[in-house]
Amino acid sequence: MDFETRAIHEGQEPDPTTGSVIPPIYQTSTYVHEEVGAHKGYVYSRSANPTRTALETCLASLEGADHGFAFASGMAATTTVMQLVNPGDRIVSVNDVYGGTYRLFSKVLEPKGYDFSYLSAEQVTSDLASACDDKTRLVWIETPTNPLMNLVDIRAAAEAAKAAGALLVVDNTFATPYLQRPLDLGADIVVHSTTKYLGGHSDVIGGFAATNDPTVAERLKFLQNATGSVPGPFDSWLVLRGLKTLAVRMDRHCANAERIAAWLEEHPAVERVRYPGLTSHPEHELARSQMSGFGGMISFELATKEAALEVLRSTDLWLLAESLGGVESLIEHPGAMTHASTADSPFPTPDTLIRLSVGIESADDLLADLEQALAKVPSAAGAS
Ligand code: PLP
Repeated sequence: MDFETRAIHEGQEPDPTTGSVIPPIYQTSTYVHEEVGAHKGYVYSRSANPTRTALETCLASLEGADHGFAFASGMAATTTVMQLVNPGDRIVSVNDVYGGTYRLFSKVLEPKGYDFSYLSAEQVTSDLASACDDKTRLVWIETPTNPLMNLVDIRAAAEAAKAAGALLVVDNTFATPYLQRPLDLGADIVVHSTTKYLGGHSDVIGGFAATNDPTVAERLKFLQNATGSVPGPFDSWLVLRGLKTLAVRMDRHCANAERIAAWLEEHPAVERVRYPGLTSHPEHELARSQMSGFGGMISFELATKEAALEVLRSTDLWLLAESLGGVESLIEHPGAMTHASTADSPFPTPDTLIRLSVGIESADDLLADLEQALAKVPSAAGAS
């Protein structure tokens, strides 16, 4: 079955007891045993819950995975995946990662003896092999990266990681499986913040990890239960409901973002637009080869930090908020907001950068609001 059909039906047979078309929210912590050892497959909801199973089955199918595990947040999924490696092991990560991921790596895991090294997206694509040594156990990438919209060649990274005997993990939050399926391109594990496009309505926090490797799957299943960072039934249900409309929402996110990115590129106050769908993006051809659309995230730079702050003060429809991937459009300053935790790193986010999460409202309304906000700052030529 095609993606759109699986997003609506996979793992979701009508409820056999009532005929309910929508999977019930099984709001229970425990399950009755007929006698010791005889139960219906569910024992305790940290280990498994039917609403969560429906989500895990559906989303694993969308990622082309045999196994999927839902978590209480994207960071819980990341933390659990990082339990696959040990202190002393080496992890190579792209340097342009979500700030919270960098914080986990640098402030929680590194002090415990995990050995991290960071490469630019370009270096991961071209030179990962020489950055891996015999202690390297895991390679962590995002593509497109958050917030600079750099791309990593997933096929090349998978090949180099495999040759080094390391697992390649791809955070696929920005692209979603509708636009990019890392496991098909050779990755070992895919990770999501389902808080974003998969939930899609800015009303739930969740995470997910999927794999086709049975050994990794068995360990993740064990860790999910042993560490306990699972989503509740209602949160699982909200993400499952979000998946049903993922394909149509992503089509609209992409169409709106393509139009807005092209418009920003022509605007005299804008110095640089970072969007993989623009032919000016250095990895536009790579985006075409590993993504089926360019997504709803855009970053752009103004001449000064003051200009960026003025735009952020001036929009009405674009809400000044962290997060992304909801139906409503959001605008933010990564340097001071989502990526503040990279401020003291060797690769801080430029303070002239604005990040847009383009929603599915009317593109005309979104452009009109950006136009009035950008009218308040000098043109790039005039400001320099
Ligand atoms: N990965 C990416 C790319 C993100 O943008 C985020 C959150 O913004 C996360 C992971 C963490 O997800 P969560 O906030 O659901 O813990």
